[in-house]
Parts: sequence; C-alpha cells; structure tokens
Amino acid sequence: MNIRTTESLNYFQPSTYSGKSLGLNKSLISRHAMTVLKGLKKNGYDSYLVGGCVRDLLLGLEPKDFDVATNARPDQVRHVFRNARVIGRRFKIVHVRFGREVIEVATYRSAPASSHQDQSTHRIGEQGRLLADNVYGTRDEDAMRRDLSVNALYYDPATDEILDYHDGLDDIQHGRLRVIGEASERYREDPVRMLRVVRFAAKLGFEIEPSASNAIDKNVGLLTNVPAARLFDEVLKLFHSGSAIATFEKLRQHGLFEYLFPATEHILNSEEEGFPRTFLPLALKNTDKRILQGKPVIPSFLYAVLLWEPFRYYKEIARSQGANEYDSIHQAADQAIVEQLSTVAIPRRYTAQMREIWLMQYFFDQRRSRQVFRLLENRKFRAGYDFLLLRASVGQAKPEIAEWWTRIQDADEDERRRMLKSLTGGSKKRRPRKKKKS
Ligand code: ATP
Ligand code: MG
Repeated sequence: MNIRTTESLNYFQPSTYSGKSLGLNKSLISRHAMTVLKGLKKNGYDSYLVGGCVRDLLLGLEPKDFDVATNARPDQVRHVFRNARVIGRRFKIVHVRFGREVIEVATYRSAPASSHQDQSTHRIGEQGRLLADNVYGTRDEDAMRRDLSVNALYYDPATDEILDYHDGLDDIQHGRLRVIGEASERYREDPVRMLRVVRFAAKLGFEIEPSASNAIDKNVGLLTNVPAARLFDEVLKLFHSGSAIATFEKLRQHGLFEYLFPATEHILNSEEEGFPRTFLPLALKNTDKRILQGKPVIPSFLYAVLLWEPFRYYKEIARSQGANEYDSIHQAADQAIVEQLSTVAIPRRYTAQMREIWLMQYFFDQRRSRQVFRLLENRKFRAGYDFLLLRASVGQAKPEIAEWWTRIQDADEDERRRMLKSLTGGSKKRRPRKKKKS
C-alpha cells in the first residue's frame, strides 16, 4: 500500500483488482443501482458502488441494499434524477427511489474532524463525538471516513474495477474486521460503530481484530452519548439482520447489551426457580428462523420480546403490592417502557402494540368466552399468538392453552362454539354464580 503525505493527512492510495478475477457476480447488482451509476456518469460525475454491497458481492452474498459514492453534491445528484430526495440528518445524502427500492447516494466526505483545523465545519462534542460532518472531500478522503476496511471498497461495474484503500480484500479473505484508523478514536467519534462491528461480526461470522475488540471493551460507556432515536433504528438492524441470536451473544460478551437494555440485562443475570431465563434467546432464534423463511418481522414484537423479562418482573412486584392481575399488567407495561425510553426511543405506535401483545397474553391464559372472538379479530392477534407459542415453549404458558388457540383459529363456527362451551364459563373468580349453575 502506498501512502501519500499531504499537509496534515496520510492518504492511502488504493490497490486495484478486477471484479471478475475475484469471482464477483455482477448479476447480483440491482438494476436500479446500475441506473443510478450510469445516470451520474452520463452527467460527468464519478460513481461507484461502495460499502456493504461490495463486501457482500465479494463474499457471494446478495447485498441487502446498494450504496453509491459520488463527487456530485447532493443538490447536483437531485438534478440528475427526478425520483430523488435529499435526506438531511447527520449527513446529507440523496435517496433515489424506484418503487420499494431506495438507492442511497452519498457525496464523498472529507477526512476525519480530528485532523481538521477548521472545527466549524466538523463539530465535535465533549466526548469526541462527531456532531456535524457535512464537508465534502475527495474519494481518497472518503475512504478514510469509512468505519471498517471491508466497508471501504469501491466498485465500478462499468470497468469492473475494485478500489481497495485499506486492504479490505485481504480482511474479507481472512474473515477479519479491522477498524480504519485508531479504533478508540473512531468509536469516540461515533459510538454506534461499536454496534456495527458486532453486527457484522455476527452476520458474516468474521473475527473482530484484537485492537478493535479491546477498544470496544474500553469504550462501551460511550453508547450513553448516542441519541435515543438513532438507537431505535440501530437496535432493529441488530436484531432484524437474520443473525439476532449471534448478535445478542456478542453484544452481551462485550457489555454492550447492558447499555441498550439495562433492565433486561439485569434480570437475565438472575435465575428463575433455579433455571436460566431462556425466553429471550429462544425468541431471537425464532426471529432468525422467520427471516430465513422470508416471513415478516415487526418492531413491536421484537421490543415486546426484549422487554418481556422486565415487564414480568414489574408485574410480580405490582401483584405483591396488592394490584389485581389486570392493573398490574398496565403498571408493569408503563414501568418497563418508560424506563427503556431514556436509552432507546421506541415510537409511540410501537409501544402501543407492545402493550397490546402483553395484554393479549393475559386474555389468552384466561380464555374468557366474551374475549375469545374479540381476540381472534384483533389486528395484532397473530403477533400475540406467536408470543404465546414462545411462552409455551419455555413453560410460561400451559401447552394445552397454546394448543387450544392453535385449534380455534382453523375451527368452523360449530367447532368454535363447542370449544367455548368446554371452557365452562372461563374465569372462576369473576363469575362465581354462573359457575354454580353449570
Ligand atoms: P449493510 O447495509 O449490509 O447493513 P453496510 O456496510 O452497507 O452494511 P450501511 O449502513 O448501508 O452499512 O452503510 C454504507 C457504508 O457507509 C458502510 O459500508 C460504511 O462504509 C459507511 N458507514 C455507514 N455508517 C458508518 C459510520 N457510522 N461510520 C463510518 N462509516 C459508516
Ligand atoms: Mg448498505
């Protein structure tokens, strides 16, 4: 690797390879990504596929999404495509939309803030976190801004040329994740990078290079500086990646899970009647299975699963303080959710669904005849029922109850009536008289 020294920075010059010689399968590239690449070129701009999609193509995997890097500024990109929108969050990028597929186009960014004299363009927070980073740069600089060597590969399908700035190809071939630059400094700039490293390690089955791994252990506490709204999205990426269980285990190993879900971690460390708590691992394995089978997964279900142990814990406390079952559910849901919101901002529509999933568990267990049809018609019935099956498989719900709810869904009208009759009035406590009559 050649290093070119300029005034304040060492820029790396890329090694180049042909995609074909590395077995890169071009047919896995989305045609919409190709349209974007060609459109930019036609207008005189640079355009490359970059990041995870190049990494995945080299691994023979189908990329989850396609990111494009260019020297065109966001407003220039917007003028090239009618279906483009500038998205202005931490970094200004352009989304070019084709039906359900979005191609993300990012302008080359300039080198890390720490190396810049002009701190007005790269704002840094007290802990070294980058607060603004919207300074455009060259491709060489852009490569240095990226998090991992394996994510800093640029590919031009028109010439079949791969540009490798940080020996990412070697790391891909050795199954290794290496942070570009000094790991602690890069985590300080953006603590979410620690979560990304763990996510890729779990998803790709790669080793985290020791210096990058040790630096996570030293910097876990930085996660408290990340805005709770951003963590909501990151948590979904962590657990809806198809490798939720492996990610969960790695997050716990590195002490990161504790920062994301403090109450859950605390309770997971205690046994239940002499046994480890298995609900969450089982639920995450099940999430992976669903994704593998192409079945839908929803954020509220995931969060209901992640906060189930704190919910149960608070419910027991409310019960022991004299609240009835129904009230204790509401109190516990309030407590588990409100406490979590300071770390991860779960939007209101999802917290409402989480409560519904939890409350349904109570009605499932009760099987009160008046509630049965209401439950079957509930829009979130399927989610509640899937949750019940998970509870049943770890002994938190009676198998015959889960089996009853499985049967009633497919039963015809007569059969449903028979099933309800066999319940003999449902709740004993609430209807003592009816019970006597029958
Ligand atoms: P995947 O899409 O498979 O989850 P990815 O690597 O493509 O993985 P994206 O979030 O799509 O991840 O980001 C695209 C690229 O942008 C990354 O590969 C990386 O080069 C760069 N990038 C994203 N987030 C960061 C970050 N927090 N710090 C530095 N670079 C980043
Ligand atoms: Mg990507």
